[in-house]
Amino acid sequence: MKEYDLIVIGAGSGGVRAARIAANYGAKVLIAEGLNYGGTCVNRGCVPKKLFTYAAQFNSDFDTAKSYGWEVPEQISFNWQTLIKNKDQEIERLNDIYKSILEKNKVDRIDGYASFKGSEIIQINDEIFKGKKILIASGGACNKPAYTAKDKVLTSDDIFHIKKLPKDICILGAGYIAVEFACIMNGLGVKTTLIYRGERILKSFDQDLTNLLEDEMIKKGINIKFNTNIEDITEANEGLEIKIQQGPSIKTACVLSALGRSPNVAQLNLDKIDILQKKNGAIIVDEFSKTNIDHIYAIGDVTDRINLTPVAIREGHAFADTEFGKIKRSASHKNIPSTVFTDPPLSTVGITTEEALKLGIKVKTFKTQFSPMKYTFADKKPKILMKLLVDEKTDKVLGIHMLGQDSPEIIQSLAVALTAGATKKDFDNTTAIHPTSSEEFVTLK
Ligand code: NDP
Repeated sequence: MKEYDLIVIGAGSGGVRAARIAANYGAKVLIAEGLNYGGTCVNRGCVPKKLFTYAAQFNSDFDTAKSYGWEVPEQISFNWQTLIKNKDQEIERLNDIYKSILEKNKVDRIDGYASFKGSEIIQINDEIFKGKKILIASGGACNKPAYTAKDKVLTSDDIFHIKKLPKDICILGAGYIAVEFACIMNGLGVKTTLIYRGERILKSFDQDLTNLLEDEMIKKGINIKFNTNIEDITEANEGLEIKIQQGPSIKTACVLSALGRSPNVAQLNLDKIDILQKKNGAIIVDEFSKTNIDHIYAIGDVTDRINLTPVAIREGHAFADTEFGKIKRSASHKNIPSTVFTDPPLSTVGITTEEALKLGIKVKTFKTQFSPMKYTFADKKPKILMKLLVDEKTDKVLGIHMLGQDSPEIIQSLAVALTAGATKKDFDNTTAIHPTSSEEFVTLK
């Protein structure tokens, strides 16, 4: 039986970072991957999604170009196969980069799903390995309710590989994936309906922003059905039929289910070890990503803390520093910036108005709403909304929220200021770059 200092289960962003850093500290490391190197982010998440987002945005860019004098032919068309081919090539390139990072850092890799045979013993394919330490970084998997036509309902794993664009699509849910794909599909010319059981999209985000995003999505032609519960989805003549509790059923060519993701623990055989898990299967860990079993650790979506790639990477790095580099540290989960890549994108760092209320923190709110200069000549002018939440007592900026073009790039930079504890006065003392949208953040009154 081959023995390793560390066996990493899952070669997603977090697992690869942990494996590489541990190996750099001199550990003998094995990493197991059952599917594709790079995990969800590279293969079925952030990367292909962002490429699709760019593709979708061209649709309105053509109109804007016309307003600046460009002659755009009346008949423009979009070729889905070209996008898929180019996307697949890029992902293959990234898969190879991930593999070569592991090779360069002398991490052994094995293609196959890992499962526990004992607390130190892992089976991968027909081989058995012993790990002095084991890191579970197996990520998450899409939830899919047991509809009658379950096999015909797509998840975000499938949507990146469909052979042709449907003429219409119904998207279930109103979280990150649902709203992002509603904007992508609508931008690519697919008649799009979002079906949600609740009353507002992206309910954990600042409501001023989500209200405006909802308006912008509707203005772009997306149909949003709130307070709508689904009884079942069945096959119909040409596509699928969604049976709704509150009214007539909906016939559609295609359904994308985006009803959350769950920790990916199904194949790990965790029954063999007495590891503590939450109700949804998430592996319970302490701030150093250690489970209740001394030599077993877990990072990333499988722990269901903050399910974002950069967080998993930081957890993996901190784990390797602590366990193999004698630098005890944990990854901070405070003030994590994030973007929902809708059209326009919604980006945020720090607390929302609702959270400030819950925490009993009195905040002053500064906000502004306008149309970006780029749309000066255009008929359709998308809006920008910016919001700063400032602690009344200390003047510290506690929350920065923006809906609008370039918000991911702007909020990423402003997250540095918030992390460094900048006050409103620091923002006021910063000179604007004119004319930009982001200058509004330093001129808010
Ligand atoms: P989310 O948890 O964001 O949203 C799930 C949605 O499905 C919610 O609207 C939820 O409704 C609804 N829902 C859940 N269960 C049911 C049910 N049984 N019946 C009806 N509706 C239901 O999950 P996503 O799948 O969109 O994304 C998963 C995670 O992936 C995100 O939380 C995020 O961490 C990550 N992600 C990040 C991205 C980014 O950074 N840009 C992009 C994509 C994903 P309700 O609110 O009522 O519970």
